[in-house]
Amino acid sequence: MAQEQTTWEYAPSPEGTGHIKLNKKYNLFIDGKWVAPSSKKYFETINPATEEVLAEIAYANEKDVDLAVKAARKAYTNVWSKMPASERAKYIYRIARLMQERAREFAVIESLDAGKTIRESRDIDVPLACNHFFYYAGWADKLEYAFPNRKVEALGVAGQIIPWNFPLLMAAWKIAPALATGNTVVLKPSETTSLTALKLAEIIEEAGLPHGVVNIVTGYGDTGAAIVNHADVNKIAFTGSTAVGKIIQKAIAGTHKKATLELGGKSANIIFEDAPIDQAVEGIINGIFFNQGHVCCAGSRLFVQEGIAEKVIRKLKQRMESLYVGNPMDKNTDIGAINSKKQLETINKYIHIGLKEGAEMYQPACDLPSKGYYCAPTLFLNVAQSSIIAQEEIFGPVLTIQTFRTVDEVIQKANNSPYGLAAGVWTDKGSRIFNLTTKLKAGVVWANTYNKFDPTSPFGGYKESGFGREGGVHGLSGYVKLS
Ligand code: NAP
Ligand code: MG
Repeated sequence: MAQEQTTWEYAPSPEGTGHIKLNKKYNLFIDGKWVAPSSKKYFETINPATEEVLAEIAYANEKDVDLAVKAARKAYTNVWSKMPASERAKYIYRIARLMQERAREFAVIESLDAGKTIRESRDIDVPLACNHFFYYAGWADKLEYAFPNRKVEALGVAGQIIPWNFPLLMAAWKIAPALATGNTVVLKPSETTSLTALKLAEIIEEAGLPHGVVNIVTGYGDTGAAIVNHADVNKIAFTGSTAVGKIIQKAIAGTHKKATLELGGKSANIIFEDAPIDQAVEGIINGIFFNQGHVCCAGSRLFVQEGIAEKVIRKLKQRMESLYVGNPMDKNTDIGAINSKKQLETINKYIHIGLKEGAEMYQPACDLPSKGYYCAPTLFLNVAQSSIIAQEEIFGPVLTIQTFRTVDEVIQKANNSPYGLAAGVWTDKGSRIFNLTTKLKAGVVWANTYNKFDPTSPFGGYKESGFGREGGVHGLSGYVKLS
């Protein structure tokens, strides 16, 4: 879109949507079949960039969840747990290959349904989701090497609940390790982003997975709660907010259910005076504006060493002026649509709070589209450590900036948060990096980069950011019983 401050204009380059086939209505994928919900109710999923309805999605109630869990149990007992691991691996590998073949379709649907830019869904979400299946396909018949000298058993039926910020990728993070370790699955996507999980169900069908090994049930929070509370589920894998994570933990307390919870974050991105500044500025931009700030590990708290603060802030503002906000389908767009009206309201509420708290706000001049849900990239300066905008997760393109003088001071400030998901450190000194990685209470610490993901690398939180790890060999642990 046109913006005054840019020194040049890009010609629009929208990704085509002509090849996308969406049904008007999507049913539930249970026991290898598409079944109507017993509630007979459907809800609309919309494109947050245009507010247009994309499809109607089935609303699963307790009865449907029960059918899905029964199908998963039957598939586990009769087929999946008896199958040689090398055969299981072939199915997982097939899912990866089929998804790769349909990568463009997945990317476009993800951008339409979630509002994320096509550049991200094409270059990040879909390739990483494919790689996750490839990676765990490799582990399926090598579990004795993952856990040497231990007897490894599957848990049984895994109930999996995922959020809307990386819909397909989170489904891959959940399903791939569960299948590799021999479990069967009931998965619920988020109500605003069900489409790619349903497309994944089509692939699962095409890959010929035995019926009931993967079941996809769509719906609202109560559908998720029905999975959590079902007596025959052995494991709950949840990614979402800390508030819902706490409800889940209470609900399963005292039961036999195992759980992994991947929750919210308020991650610190720390820039030292000896950092490569231009690179760091790109890292800050990527850390918070990537995916509209809908990233659990977003570098939403920036800490800049005093001597370079002025320079970094000036460069940051300059760079923000060149960011394109608008149509997610345009390949030039840097910041797409906010996922939902509700989320936009939450972000705007926090911007308002920031102003009321007396922080100084900066937003580049940009014309936001009149339809759809958009938010300009936002900086807050003069932010107090105790302020709400520095403490609470905003989950949008909003960055707070604080300065520091010493290493000890920044470690103390960065760790002064109920969360502990990720952190970034920018410095020329290797010893300083190692010092900080041991002292920052965060599951992932990136050095001189940010938001880098790889299926071989474990991901997860400290403190209120949850427990358990996904990815890598660690990601297998949450799905097995060892003796
Ligand atoms: P959310 O409101 O907690 O929802 C997550 C999922 O749980 C959705 O599918 C939701 O269904 C479902 N749900 C809601 N209430 C439930 C209940 N009582 N019992 C069981 N399931 C329930 O989170 P969100 O707004 O979708 O996602 C944003 C949050 O996810 C942020 O806090 C972010 O930091 C976190 N996140 C964490 C990670 C990580 O790896 N640590 C990764 C991505 C996102 P509905 O959508 O239908 O309400
Ligand atoms: Mg949608």
